[in-house]
Amino acid sequence: MDVDLALLADTKGFLHPDEGRRLYELALEAGKLGPCLEVGSYCGKSTVWLGAACRQNGTVLFSIDHHRGSAEQQPGEPYFDPELFDPRTFRIDTFPFFRATLARAGLEDTVVALVCSSQLAARHWTTPLGLVFIDGSHDFQSVRQDYRMWSRHLPAGGYLLFHDVFPDPADGGRGPYQVYREAISRGQYDVLPMTGCLGILRRRP
Ligand code: MG
Repeated sequence: MDVDLALLADTKGFLHPDEGRRLYELALEAGKLGPCLEVGSYCGKSTVWLGAACRQNGTVLFSIDHHRGSAEQQPGEPYFDPELFDPRTFRIDTFPFFRATLARAGLEDTVVALVCSSQLAARHWTTPLGLVFIDGSHDFQSVRQDYRMWSRHLPAGGYLLFHDVFPDPADGGRGPYQVYREAISRGQYDVLPMTGCLGILRRRP
C-alpha cells in the first residue's frame, strides 16, 4: 500500500485512518469496474487513500469540490478554520491545500480535480463509475441530491459510500444517515458492515 501516513497526519480533514484504509481497499476492488469519484475533497485526506488505490489500478479518481467550504465551515460556524480563509477574496479557499496534498502524495497524474458544485459536475456526466463516495454538504437535501445524481452511474458491483453516517443522533447530523437509509430501502444495494461512520453499499446485479 503506497500511502504516506505522515502526509495524512499533516493534512486537515475529518477522516479516521481506519475509514481511510477501508476506502483504499474498496477503491482497489472498485477500480476494476471503472474510475472512482468523490464528492467533497476539502484538503485531500480521503483523496490520498482513494487516489493511491486508483493509481495502483491505473485508473483515475474524480474529486469534486467548489472549495469554498460547507455551511458549517464558514466564519463564525463550528468548523471554521482561519487558515483556510483567503483575505484577498474574503472567502474560504481549500483548493491550494488540496493541490499541495495532491503534489505531496504524487497523485497529480491520477486525480482529476473538478472545482465546481457537484450539481454542475453531474449535469453532463455519462461515465460509469466503480465507486462513489459522498462526503459533500451534509444537509439532507444536498446529500440526497448527490445520492440521486451519482448513484445512477454505478454498475452492478459498484460501491456507494456515505461518510458521517450516525445512527445515533447524539453523534452528529442526520442528513447522511437518512439518505443512507433511503438508499437501502430501495432494495438495489447490499449492505456491508460500516467502518467508523463510513456507510458501505454495493449495487446488486
Ligand atoms: Mg466527512
